[in-house]
Amino acid sequence: MPLVNSKEMFEKAYKGGYAIGAFNVNNMEVVQAITEAANELNSPVILQVSAGARKYAKPVYLKKLVEAAVEDTDIPVVLHLDHGADFEICKDCIDNGFTSVMIDASSKPFEENIAITKKVVEYAHAHKPYVTVEAELGTLAGVEDDVKVEFGKSSYTNPDQVEEFVKRTGVDSLAIAIGTSHGAYKFRPEQCTRNKDGVLVPPPLRFDILEEVSKRLPGFPIVLHGASSVTQEFVKIINENGGKMPDAVGIPEDQLRKAASMAVCKINIDSDLRLAVTAGVRKHMVDHPDHFDPRQYMTDARNNCRELVKHKIIDVLGSQDKK
Ligand SMILES: [Zn+2]
Repeated sequence: MPLVNSKEMFEKAYKGGYAIGAFNVNNMEVVQAITEAANELNSPVILQVSAGARKYAKPVYLKKLVEAAVEDTDIPVVLHLDHGADFEICKDCIDNGFTSVMIDASSKPFEENIAITKKVVEYAHAHKPYVTVEAELGTLAGVEDDVKVEFGKSSYTNPDQVEEFVKRTGVDSLAIAIGTSHGAYKFRPEQCTRNKDGVLVPPPLRFDILEEVSKRLPGFPIVLHGASSVTQEFVKIINENGGKMPDAVGIPEDQLRKAASMAVCKINIDSDLRLAVTAGVRKHMVDHPDHFDPRQYMTDARNNCRELVKHKIIDVLGSQDKK
């Protein structure tokens, strides 16, 4: 099955009350883990590439890895640009075979965000085949590669703006800010309470905003960024094997499941994959101090990622058997 854009995928997900996982990729093992898990569960999947990934692996390597995964599996796969900073990077990706791009001008004033997004949409939609475009309104706190927003400088999406934004830009999907956050430290401890095990419990997502947005844009696909749950099982393994990640906290999975059953059609997951790799490598190194073949510890890293993606597809996204 060749690479596809996200249009039909989101239409089905909206109607079916589930979401598509959008997983960030930087290397071969993670690409394999994600697509093998999705293939086993007959789930569509989005592989996304950030500016940091392009810098780390070079665009051509990432593209060829994704092409290999497409050849090796039998599921719909989208190759998506995550957080395109300007028109040029979006154009470059569209010209080089990406089937979907995000233009993130959310830090710019409303009118400027509209103008930049519209320019990308016009270019992407004129492309044969049609490339889908995601934009963002509102800003998330946290750190993701080159995207950094201070706590306190983030802002929820204003539902009064979404209709005008979508109508004037022609965008295919919209990332909104309802309390998710980038990175493995999504909330400061003082924003949270603690459970009986001393683990931070973050403030709940603003489902009232999501509901209001979906009322204004019926049938329109919404995207959640910064939606890793920061799997505590991996944080524990990391901390028990020489790591130091106190108070790493994410979005509870039941809240993500609820969002997936509503207008949210795409859920971005990056930090959880990073934790899965690091937990696998750290534990392997401690258990086998004599090993020095990267294939040995990267096998554990890849296995962790594969299990994580399967869990997300079944228990969080609900995209199993929806290919
Ligand atoms: Zn993001």
